Amino acid sequence: MTDFKKIISHAKEYGFVFPSSEIYDGLSAVYDYAQNGVALKKNIRDYWWKSMVQLHHNIVGIDASIFMHPTTWKASGHVDAFNDPMIDNKDSKKRYRADVLVEDYCAKIENKIDKEIAKAAKRFGDDFNQEEFTKTNPRVVGYQEKINQTLKRLGQSLEKEDLADVKNLIEELEIACPESGSRNWTEVKQFNLMFGTKLGASVDSAMDLYLRPETAQGIFVNFLNVQKTGRMKIPFGIAQTGKAFRNEIVARQFIFRMREFEQMEMQFFIPPGTQKEWYEQWKETRLKWHLSLGMGEENYRFHDHEKLAHYADAAADIEFKFPFGYKELEGIHSRTDFDLSSHEEFSGKKLQYFDHERNENYVPYVVETSVGLDRMFLAVFSWALREETLEDGSSRTVLKLPAILAPTKIAILPLVKKDGLPEVGKKLMEDLKWDYEVSYDEKDAVGRRYRRQDALGTPYCITIDHQTIEDQTVTIRDRNTMKQERMLIKELGGFLHEKLNFKNWLKKIQ
Ligand code: ATP
Repeated sequence: MTDFKKIISHAKEYGFVFPSSEIYDGLSAVYDYAQNGVALKKNIRDYWWKSMVQLHHNIVGIDASIFMHPTTWKASGHVDAFNDPMIDNKDSKKRYRADVLVEDYCAKIENKIDKEIAKAAKRFGDDFNQEEFTKTNPRVVGYQEKINQTLKRLGQSLEKEDLADVKNLIEELEIACPESGSRNWTEVKQFNLMFGTKLGASVDSAMDLYLRPETAQGIFVNFLNVQKTGRMKIPFGIAQTGKAFRNEIVARQFIFRMREFEQMEMQFFIPPGTQKEWYEQWKETRLKWHLSLGMGEENYRFHDHEKLAHYADAAADIEFKFPFGYKELEGIHSRTDFDLSSHEEFSGKKLQYFDHERNENYVPYVVETSVGLDRMFLAVFSWALREETLEDGSSRTVLKLPAILAPTKIAILPLVKKDGLPEVGKKLMEDLKWDYEVSYDEKDAVGRRYRRQDALGTPYCITIDHQTIEDQTVTIRDRNTMKQERMLIKELGGFLHEKLNFKNWLKKIQ
């Protein structure tokens, strides 16, 4: 896989992703999608949308607002539970999650226990009774007590929101900054990941709002509207794509973790008690969607969560092998009836469904699939970018994007800028543009034009030469193999349709 720095610079050089407001030196962890990037992003979004909404008769889409009634975020738990306790080191200026510092400290003691156990197991051989040993060995007992006391105190302080005590704990444990080695800490502060803003002009009457930290809540609050107006029968799903905002403590790794990003989410409403089957089914369906793009089965894996969020009874990530290792690309969560029940409670409105088959009313359970569009972009882009050494010893940079996602599907290249070739090329562009994103280029030697299209990820180049005028044939060059095939112009439609239609890609997941 290509070096990460090269990926970022290629994204800029070829008009995929620019740092935001670059003329003012940019804004940390904020990016703009450029002319090619926006097309790639849109194609990924469409590929997701079609697979979800068009291919499932029981899934419909919505587009809810980014602003929502502030009580939404009370009900969802984001006001109270979407916090991280932060602490800064004054010397390194690095910011940490205070609870993670303490947990890391305990993990180190845990390692010491493991070492004692390993030593004793070796010493006692077959007679070793680990349970007995851990209960009675004074050193191990001491370590374990230290861990228990520390975590208990951390838990209690966090529960009571006694952040001063969290800081005391860090100081008492003599925890040092991993970067500077110093113990010069600031106070601990609660850091809510939601961005606040105000609605309304006057200071007195302005209403405090949040920019949504996830798109899901726009679906939950519309559950009954969609169910009734769409006459939807459970099981059914609501899909949505859109921006979400999180004031991430440490935003990094290019577009992997940003403060403003886009999600593609689907909430699937099901009868209580069936969540396990649906959860398994959606895990499988979503993995197949990823695999349909042909980026290698070996690059994906599931990671089942042990520590569950307050709303979930099961959760897994689909992880992808990014240039910096396996990381979460998509989350699949069994959210129980937490959200709808909570919105019922806070709004005082019933959010229930009458199930004719069961002859009962209930609050539906939900299985959700949630994938970051920007992360998906990074997965595709970083996987696709290659430096290849060719047979003649020269090298080329090629962006082997799945053809269905490529920003430009076809580049039309007249061999020379005369003899009527540009006219034929432009006419061909006029014909093909109804169905495909087409570009036209008549500058430079054709070899250089091929290289440029390779770097842009264009799967097919059509070259018009003098023979075209004589017999109505063109050459079509495949980006991946670099092989050229001569073909009648009138055969192009069928060829391109075969290679570039959604059905041929998406049917792999049926
Ligand atoms: P992480 O553990 O990486 O912070 P998360 O578990 O908080 O992610 P979810 O709340 O499950 O993420 O959001 C669903 C998806 O949204 C993630 O799988 C990811 O693809 C995307 N996502 C979440 N946070 C960001 C972000 N800051 N920037 C870009 N994409 C994000």
